Amino acid sequence: MTLDRDAFYINGGWAAPTSTQTIQVVSPHSEQVVATVPEGTPGDIDAAVAAARRAFDEGPWPRMTPAERIDVVQVFSGLYAAKLGEMADVITAEMGSPTSFSNLAQSPAPWMQIEAFLGIARDYPWEEVRTGVLGTPVMVRREPVGVVAAIPPWNVPQFTIMSKVVPALLAGCTVVVKPAPETPLDAYLMAELLQEAGVPAGVVNIVAGGRETGEHLVAHPGVDKVAFTGSTAAGRKIAAVCGEQLKRVSLELGGKSAAIVLDDADLAKAVEGLKFTGLMNSGQACVAQTRILASRANYASVVDALAEAVGGMQVGDPMDPATEIGPMVAQRQQERVEKYIALGQEEGARVVVGGVGMPEGLDRGWYVRPTVFADVDNRMRIAQEEIFGPVLSVIPFDDVDDAVRIANDSDYGLAGTVWTGDQEAGLDVARRVRTGTYGVNTYTMDFAAPFGGYKASGLGREFGPEGLGQYTELKSIYLES
Ligand code: NAD
Repeated sequence: MTLDRDAFYINGGWAAPTSTQTIQVVSPHSEQVVATVPEGTPGDIDAAVAAARRAFDEGPWPRMTPAERIDVVQVFSGLYAAKLGEMADVITAEMGSPTSFSNLAQSPAPWMQIEAFLGIARDYPWEEVRTGVLGTPVMVRREPVGVVAAIPPWNVPQFTIMSKVVPALLAGCTVVVKPAPETPLDAYLMAELLQEAGVPAGVVNIVAGGRETGEHLVAHPGVDKVAFTGSTAAGRKIAAVCGEQLKRVSLELGGKSAAIVLDDADLAKAVEGLKFTGLMNSGQACVAQTRILASRANYASVVDALAEAVGGMQVGDPMDPATEIGPMVAQRQQERVEKYIALGQEEGARVVVGGVGMPEGLDRGWYVRPTVFADVDNRMRIAQEEIFGPVLSVIPFDDVDDAVRIANDSDYGLAGTVWTGDQEAGLDVARRVRTGTYGVNTYTMDFAAPFGGYKASGLGREFGPEGLGQYTELKSIYLES
């Protein structure tokens, strides 16, 4: 079966591209071309925004009741559930996520998001009547924000598309999705499911392309709101454009999160957890907790246990179910991670496992060796900058106050965990760390609760009723008693 495509999904059908430019999707494992698809240009974006604008201004979708929209999204959810395996395989093929991770986070989790948002939408106060200060009634309505530009990154493409498209649909918005050039293929599969589910023409439009295509979409006057997930650098530029135009904007950006291991933690359990929180998706995760904070008293034990665990991880073919670390998405990402590993050594950190160079037994593919650094100072660049690869830094702390101080000494504020035998002590730490999400002895994202970042990790929240609220405008209608 070929994954090649020659059209964009615009206005409910397959639209010919306005140019002959193409994107070659290359397997990060085999370095072979997986598929060729058209590359979106500003002209294609114009067509997609025009379709979304028409569907919003004149089409049925925003005028349907929330219950009618819920019914359509419920059909989409059922169709999506039947394609979880195929979706996971497509994502592993295009960006190299280990299949064990793809079959957890790349397609089941997006489907769980759909179901969670459906539940939230059923109970959502779309229209409520309050008693005003003078005793007269006032109606508060939540109306769709309009045409939404949804811009996801490549690392968890469906996860970051669903968190935007589903609440946008339920709120009555119309959407233009611009998938990243590394991962256009999963969005085609999604388009087929939306079409089959009966989502009306123009309600979701999909044009994959690079940065310039994204910039054109963000600045387009036909767009009312931008929902972006990606790097902090791109987020700042997007926020500036939206600020100038007073467009609504939500941003899910980078992170450099800390996991704090308290002395009373069950070390074996903590290390199992740290392997996941630090190295999930081969370390290509915004929530990756790549700073491991251990007390000076317990430091050597934590370093040794981590070194043994990470040194034993299986690196290789992402389609092998036993693989724990796959390739980096692209050669440039492999080079970037290796540069950081070399930089850490120059900064005086000590490699206890891994290092620069291809993992043993591999001679092609964009692989790096999972690496653990010890003797890391939080001021080092490897502790401050997002590496986006399988590189952990173990940083010593004096006491709990010092651990909290180090965790907070970051431009970012997205995630974090504390590992402890005392849940109350863990909660105390959780309350003091300035991040949008936190875990005590676990880090399982919950779609019932808001997700997002403090500081340079973003603006606004996804998931939960708060995430649905990002796609609504509030209107107050004053009534006579
Ligand atoms: P990126 O910022 O380079 O690109 C993300 C997307 O934005 C891509 O589709 C890209 O084509 C587009 N884009 C880039 N510059 C743009 C601009 N100026 N205007 C409009 N569109 C633009 O990021 P990436 O390398 O694809 O992804 C990795 C980054 O994403 C990491 O920093 C990671 O932490 C972050 N991320 C954050 C979350 C989160 O929820 N907080 C989730 C996943 C990834």
